[in-house]
Amino acid sequence: MTKRDYYEVLGVSKSASKDEIKKAYRKLALKYHPDKNKGDKAAEEKFKEGSEAYHVLSDDKRKNNYDQFGHAAFQGGGGQSGFGNFDFSSSFSDIFEDVFGDFGFGGSSQSRRGRRNNRGNDLRYDISIDLDDAFKGKEEKINYTTYKKCKTCSGSGARPGSTPTACSYCSGQGRVRSNQGFFTIQQTCPECSGEGEQISNPCNSCSGAGKTQSNESVSVKIPKGVDDGTRIRIAGKGEAGTKGGSSGDLYLFVSVEPHDIFKRSEENLFYELPISIADAALGANVEVPSIDGGKTKIKIPSGTQSGKQLRLRGKGMPVLKRNLFGDLYIRVVTEVPTSLTKKQKELLSEFKDLEDNKSNPLIKSFFDKAKKFWKQ
Ligand SMILES: [Zn+2]
Ligand SMILES: [Zn+2]
Repeated sequence: MTKRDYYEVLGVSKSASKDEIKKAYRKLALKYHPDKNKGDKAAEEKFKEGSEAYHVLSDDKRKNNYDQFGHAAFQGGGGQSGFGNFDFSSSFSDIFEDVFGDFGFGGSSQSRRGRRNNRGNDLRYDISIDLDDAFKGKEEKINYTTYKKCKTCSGSGARPGSTPTACSYCSGQGRVRSNQGFFTIQQTCPECSGEGEQISNPCNSCSGAGKTQSNESVSVKIPKGVDDGTRIRIAGKGEAGTKGGSSGDLYLFVSVEPHDIFKRSEENLFYELPISIADAALGANVEVPSIDGGKTKIKIPSGTQSGKQLRLRGKGMPVLKRNLFGDLYIRVVTEVPTSLTKKQKELLSEFKDLEDNKSNPLIKSFFDKAKKFWKQ
């Protein structure tokens, strides 16, 4: 059997907006939902076909691949998205949460939602480092306060010796059902907030929460090349979950302090190097700083104009997770001396008397043009 075009399945045009695609799928899903068409194989097929089409067209990356390669984008080993064959059961609840919001239609949606509620919160920790630490990488010990599983009750929230009882409102289901039209709508139980349990005898240490506040420390490796705004995830170091739920994650938000000398743009570094007019005219060898802490010898050629840019390859920042370095750009600016001694003044006057058209070609060229202009 040949596969139908996904746009055709949903009855939308190729230029349909996200909203139109969602609306079209919603309509189709309501019509062919298995709850409404018990035992109707054809309806079930239509429902699956529509869900598959929506799964692809509702996601920008998948939609792009599909627009470019058609169904071939998702078949066989060469698929770019790793999507493979559409696994209806695993995508089902995602799609339904997306399209229908908080209403579940089946058991799979409920269990997924339940698990998610039990997961511990993620934590954010802001850290500020110097540019040279960002260059070298750094090991940093972080102290923070979080919630850990309560030791007294092992996270159950019930006083040792007692056990939580099933919620009487939802009979321990965590969800309550009501009939609306064709569908059975499930909602989170308002009594137990979906936990399915009630604690009549709360633990003294955690007042029934199942977790207690605790000071933790963790050693974090900040990799070479981190930039301002880089986020580092430390899995499982967030707040403890409840009722067997997994712990949240700890996120390190890195900011990199501005440097006195180096300005950064991604992997490249910049600075302005002031040189004297004598060095600019005569040429010079100068030792300049590089971010590795060392000195680099550069040659200023004679006759270097202010604003000239030099590039030192590989003297920039490391590229995160790659064995590559950016470049260092040095912009030369000539500094005109501001306070002169008597002797310096004499020598400069003497020099001025010796200046001619050959030594300052730009000046000559400009005033040649000006003279023409004034004569007009
Ligand atoms: Zn406890
Ligand atoms: Zn309940």
